[in-house]
Amino acid sequence: MSTMTGKALEILKQYYGYEQFRPLQGEIIQSILDKKDTVVLMPTGGGKSLCFQIPAMLSEGVCIVISPLLALMKDQVEALKANGISAAALNSTLTISGEDKVLSRCKNGEIKLLYISPEKLVSNLGALRTYFPVSFIAIDEAHCISAWGHDFRPEYTQLGMLREQMPGTPIIALTATADKVTRKDIVQQLRLKDPQHFIASFDRPNLSLRVKAGTKTKEKNAEILDFLETHPGEAGIIYCLSRRTTEEVAAFLRQKGHNADCYHAGLDNQTRERVQEAFINDELQIICATIAFGMGIDKSNVRWVIHYNLPKSIESFYQEIGRSGRDGLKSDTILYYSLGDLVMLSKFAAESKQSEINMARLQRMQQYAEANICRRKILLNYFGESMEHDCGNCDVCLNPRNFFDGTQLAQKALSAVIRMEEKVGVNMLIDVLRGSSRAELLEKGFQNIKTYGAGKEYSFNEWQQYILQLLHTGVMEIAYDDGFALRVTPYGHDLLYGRKKLQLARFEVKEKEPKEKKVREKKQALPEDNLFEMLRLLRLRIAREEGVPPYVVFNDASLRKMCEELPTEEEDFSNISGVGQYKMEHYGAQFLETIREFTGAQKTARQKGDTYKETLALYRQGLSVNEIAAKRELNPTTVWSHLAYLFEKGEDIRIGEHLSNEELERIIKAKRETGESNSLKALFDAMNGEIEYHKIRLGLAVIAKNIIRV
Ligand code: ADP
Ligand code: ZN
Repeated sequence: MSTMTGKALEILKQYYGYEQFRPLQGEIIQSILDKKDTVVLMPTGGGKSLCFQIPAMLSEGVCIVISPLLALMKDQVEALKANGISAAALNSTLTISGEDKVLSRCKNGEIKLLYISPEKLVSNLGALRTYFPVSFIAIDEAHCISAWGHDFRPEYTQLGMLREQMPGTPIIALTATADKVTRKDIVQQLRLKDPQHFIASFDRPNLSLRVKAGTKTKEKNAEILDFLETHPGEAGIIYCLSRRTTEEVAAFLRQKGHNADCYHAGLDNQTRERVQEAFINDELQIICATIAFGMGIDKSNVRWVIHYNLPKSIESFYQEIGRSGRDGLKSDTILYYSLGDLVMLSKFAAESKQSEINMARLQRMQQYAEANICRRKILLNYFGESMEHDCGNCDVCLNPRNFFDGTQLAQKALSAVIRMEEKVGVNMLIDVLRGSSRAELLEKGFQNIKTYGAGKEYSFNEWQQYILQLLHTGVMEIAYDDGFALRVTPYGHDLLYGRKKLQLARFEVKEKEPKEKKVREKKQALPEDNLFEMLRLLRLRIAREEGVPPYVVFNDASLRKMCEELPTEEEDFSNISGVGQYKMEHYGAQFLETIREFTGAQKTARQKGDTYKETLALYRQGLSVNEIAAKRELNPTTVWSHLAYLFEKGEDIRIGEHLSNEELERIIKAKRETGESNSLKALFDAMNGEIEYHKIRLGLAVIAKNIIRV
């Protein structure tokens, strides 16, 4: 190991609290430190940020990071600061004097990473360069430069001038999605010199993969409710094809008592921002969204993603499920796939500009959804990787398919299609096969054809499933340009006349899971779950006070580790993955306090809520907050929040002694002005820092208790 990598490892431990690099991270850091142009392809959640942040700290000058979205920049800067690394963002929301301040801090060497949007960089490059030395330039989401990619941003193309303007400065391009063509395009447009390429595996083994075909809306909704029962309080995204569906699903879930909202391009900016913020800040559990949601979020504790409809390509699908489980913890994904989706998407694709490419993409997506072999193999194969073993974490691996000779079944369907002169769609075909007597069918005289009722033994769902397989294997096709009528292909004719045979995967009748099993699956309240909840609440409180997303304080993986290892001393705590020096110093005491309280409570079987009782007892004896804090070896902040909690619970806390009516009124006003914010930081800022945090906390308790209607 070179000394450079040794240094990098030290930084990894000290600032990020991690023991070792993930695959390729060390090599990428080395390549940047060697001043080479570098291209990094790594899946979402793979750990790209470290790759340029650590060399930035090890280099002279400022590293300029180009990022397309304001929200992303903001989050990354906050995450860096929470690790004790000085970073800033230059964006259009800064005032001129704010901007000057940032620039002079860069000049003084106080800032190691400067985040900036491409347009801002291009228009200010001359000025920036005279201000401070640049160590290297990192271009995040580099695929945005390519018109081949799925997320082309014209402002990125101007970055081509960087090489000319700053010939000696290394450039590192990072992306999570880029096929070969796009990668080549990135290299060409940025004029990279003999770049080093690093391509990480796209496998995300912590994501489970499940596909459910042909489920009707009603069943789908019922299944989602069941799923939510086994994932209480866990954040997730439901992707839908249309805006209307997002609204309907969100409304349905809310009506069933879930904390859900919708997000799509038809909402105004303010609403979108509010919903996104609430999700990031763990205030909103479920988002029902169109694909417009997700690119701008770094939230690491998304625990599941459901596709309510089929996505239009494997790229989009992988990108979307990739938003779950960034912290490396187990996360679940479910894809619902129906014939209706397929018909709709095929129509979109056929009518689109690059219709052939889009149709091909959709077909690959369909192949994934219909797969009868390990799904992860198909995904990785799509991204050009091969996997030797079955993954054991997808529905096919867990439920190997049973095949049967489906020739006769296919013949029944094919013969019916031909007898109806290839003029009917899937629903009519199924009705005829099952011998339905609905009016339209009878009017057309379809009850007289030979195969009428020949497929009674299968349910509507089963037929849907099998017809999907027939379409997928190329026995039949849908005429998208002709009323979605079914047509028989040459292969279909061969089958029909017995020249070929066909294997089909048996439709597995979903037996209702026995109640018992469901209950067992339902997360049982294990003791460590209690602690996890306690730590989550503490994290939320700190995050609100500091005005940052909770996962910036600690991610779920770190909280889980705390629950497993129950550190009660500083030294053990700082060994938890994700606890760097800065976080140890800033949050250690409070987290340790909670863990000690928990383990103490476990040992002596004390009741939960004792800590509040102790505070209350001392308060009743007339001790001041500082005295209580000293006596209990707690932070005064903690005692204040105890008092606020006790007050909310109806204890006799004399709030008036600590908070005047005028102050309360200001808090109420600030709350209104900030769009009903509960963030202490936001309220603090809205009142220009004139009202102290603990007073805001008390004020919120008063408001929450509903004594005052805001
Ligand atoms: P990306 O930008 O590639 O989507 P991030 O840089 O946001 O991914 O990293 C995803 C998560 O993985 C973050 O929570 C990060 O702290 C964590 N992580 C990155 N590198 C390591 C490592 N070497 N050990 C443990 N966790 C890591
Ligand atoms: Zn598998």
